[in-house]
Amino acid sequence: MSNSNKIFLKGMDLPELEVWCKLNNFLPFRAKQLYEWLYCHGSEDVSVMTNIPNNCIEIIQEQCILSTLELISKTVAQNKKTIKFLFKTINGNFIESVSMVDEADRHTVCISSQSGCNLGCDFCATAKMGLLQNLSTGEILDQLIIIRRLSGLAINNVVYMGMGEPFLNYDNVIKSANILNNKKGFNISAQKITISTVGIVPKIKRFIEEKNKFGLAISLNASNDLTRNNIMPINKKWPIADLINMNKMYVKNNKRGKITFEYVIMDGINSSVSDATELSRILNSAKCKVNIIPYNETDGKYKRPSDTTIKEFIDTLYLYNKNFQILVRWSNGLDIDAGCGQLAVVQ
Ligand code: SAH
Repeated sequence: MSNSNKIFLKGMDLPELEVWCKLNNFLPFRAKQLYEWLYCHGSEDVSVMTNIPNNCIEIIQEQCILSTLELISKTVAQNKKTIKFLFKTINGNFIESVSMVDEADRHTVCISSQSGCNLGCDFCATAKMGLLQNLSTGEILDQLIIIRRLSGLAINNVVYMGMGEPFLNYDNVIKSANILNNKKGFNISAQKITISTVGIVPKIKRFIEEKNKFGLAISLNASNDLTRNNIMPINKKWPIADLINMNKMYVKNNKRGKITFEYVIMDGINSSVSDATELSRILNSAKCKVNIIPYNETDGKYKRPSDTTIKEFIDTLYLYNKNFQILVRWSNGLDIDAGCGQLAVVQ
């Protein structure tokens, strides 16, 4: 059988594996066994699947593809704790993922949902690639399977903050997150899986209506539409007021969880004291978290503000803050271009 006709087992959820077993005359419980081999053990080689009968192994060898990504390179940061991985998809496109281990040995992996991106955020390196492809569920999961195997470390935290816009690949992203969360899959708690979106409002609505328990982050990056229109073209379609309404809807539907608004702070663009005052005003309407991300420089057009400017901005937020929790995220791995928004592959 040629590769193009092969079936991708990696990426199938349990009901899909059950259908596949049925089609091939295998008992339904084989689907559960395969699920565990694929996701809990991350097996790439069918011959290690010791409880799977030989006739099933032969069919898998003949008809299926188990691994969807090829590792091209691995770059280790000076801190030795941040590693950037470059992978090639079956279609020949490139994606990057970043593994970060903190002082408490917690392992966070930042994964891609698309190769490239077509949203055109002016400050983001990935945008310069344009959109090359949506990743399949298998390609999303294989980033974690390969990183887990190579690092020998379990993964505690997953953020969909690598290349691409997760909510423009909604079905594959949610399916992959459910497999990450499943006890027989990766067994990562839903609160430790965060999906970050530029603000695709109909999909945020769907995410809330479906009662997904995964963390949700929205890249706000500005306190008014004028600035946001300039740096994030998507704002012309779904402006800030729509995002604030989504937050209200989320709060109504979720007793405990909170949306995180990400705010990449860029010198002279959105970094003034009046920006901070405006930001605190718009976010006071409903409970949320705010994540301030000092800009990681990419092409020289945008700059990271000085530490004093960042401090002033945060102090102002604290001054007016009534409803929200503030976090500052200093990216790791800047020496290997593995910080937020620095992922890009030029072919
Ligand atoms: N498309 C999704 C997810 C990928 S980007 C989204 O926009 O949310 C993940 C985060 O990195 C976003 O909050 C984005 O605004 C931020 N980001 C992009 N470029 C950056 C840069 N150069 N420095 C710091 N953060 C950046």
